[in-house]
Amino acid sequence: MEHWTKTKIVATLGPASSERSILSAMFDAGLDVARINSSHGSYETHQQTIDLIRDLNHAKKNNVAILVDLQGPKLRIGTVADNEVLLEEGKTIEITTHECVGNAERIYITYPEFPKDVKVDDIVKIDDGKLKLKVTSTNRKDLVKAVIVNGGILSSKKGVNLPNTKISLPSLTPKDIQDLAFALNNNVEWIGLSFVRSVTDVLDLKERIKEARKTTRVIAKIEKPEAIAEIDQIIDMADGVMVARGDLGVELPLEKVPLIQKMIVEKCIKASKPVIIATQMMESMILNYTPTRAEVNDVANAVLDGADSVMLSGETSVGKYPIQVIQHMNRIIAAVEREANIYFKEHPPGVKNQTFISDSICFNACVMAKHSDAKGIVSMTNSGYTAFKLSSHRPKANIFIFTDNFSLLNTLNLVWGVRGFYYDKYESTDNTIEDVKIFLKKHHLVKESDLLIHIASIPMKDRGRANMIKLGMV
Ligand code: PGA
Ligand code: MN
Repeated sequence: MEHWTKTKIVATLGPASSERSILSAMFDAGLDVARINSSHGSYETHQQTIDLIRDLNHAKKNNVAILVDLQGPKLRIGTVADNEVLLEEGKTIEITTHECVGNAERIYITYPEFPKDVKVDDIVKIDDGKLKLKVTSTNRKDLVKAVIVNGGILSSKKGVNLPNTKISLPSLTPKDIQDLAFALNNNVEWIGLSFVRSVTDVLDLKERIKEARKTTRVIAKIEKPEAIAEIDQIIDMADGVMVARGDLGVELPLEKVPLIQKMIVEKCIKASKPVIIATQMMESMILNYTPTRAEVNDVANAVLDGADSVMLSGETSVGKYPIQVIQHMNRIIAAVEREANIYFKEHPPGVKNQTFISDSICFNACVMAKHSDAKGIVSMTNSGYTAFKLSSHRPKANIFIFTDNFSLLNTLNLVWGVRGFYYDKYESTDNTIEDVKIFLKKHHLVKESDLLIHIASIPMKDRGRANMIKLGMV
């Protein structure tokens, strides 16, 4: 438990990290959440990955969470001849909704409504914005003509972004609905929703999960300008948020991304919603043994911003150094957390709503931890509510959460500072406080004369939200 950091690490799994020995070493290096990207791989390989994670969790007494990312309305072009076509600047190209093998004059787009949704002068970006076209005409049926603004080599099935177009596709495609069923059948802890455009996209997914009688939580991936416009409502509705800088940097001018990242992190902390910073954090380590100085700074800055988690994509799914990249990330996080004051973001609860009592308990526990220099804040939880709340105040004290819900333990692994443990005795609050002290001491998480803050719900049998604080010595 020496490598414990408050800021968590999410890593996307793939061919580079599917072997048991590699994944096991990634666990040891500090992996907190394993991400499965539905855009790649088959159900068969995803199932193997899920089984392996669960098995390693069991064998190593770990709580690595699983995040399944749904592709959403991601647009693509079709295959092109010889998998390589040169698009020349200034030339015109046709984009058709009828499937065909593309060439320099005509390419296929996997989006039937494209000619209806698009307008003259709209921008079409292909392959992460490397190629840029501008629409010159549309027949509003099956064909769009565009002029090539930034040319280059186009290969098959590249992603398309339409930064100025209102896309009429539903937020969940037929493939997403299948992928969702797969994820829910496997009781994964988190589901990521790509290309969220409005709060109703998140609501729709949450309702489907509820209908399936699952407790899976939803991460809204922020990668469209429309989502920025509704960011407060989306944060409110989602269980967590991802700053998906890859697509965000194609849909918006790149230079806007750094401040959007800071804005979203700040809002998420205030709303007690975990936030992940994603994409290209350690990109050069896909090929190289060490990161660039700029990448080290990027990870450090995300920790300074107050992100709950930092994410790896290609670095761990297809990269050469899936273990080392986590070790590097872990060292960067640990160095910042040791030296910098990223703590003490207490924000008092506002309105006296339904959760006011437990909100006030969590807030005051964190204030008390700061003043008393307590080593830990301890809580039992059934729903995870107190864990999310305590974390949002970013206490320097450890947040030790005890629950009898294994799946919740994994869920909380994404959340800043939270350390979860299994505990299933519900006799009395006095007994629990004693048990927990013995447990934490035995595992060298606290020592004699350390101060601990216990928050609890009394009477215990009601299993309600926290309504009591105790400060005491171990
Ligand atoms: P993706 O999402 O990797 O699924 O595209 C993250 C991003 O766009 O940054
Ligand atoms: Mn994306």
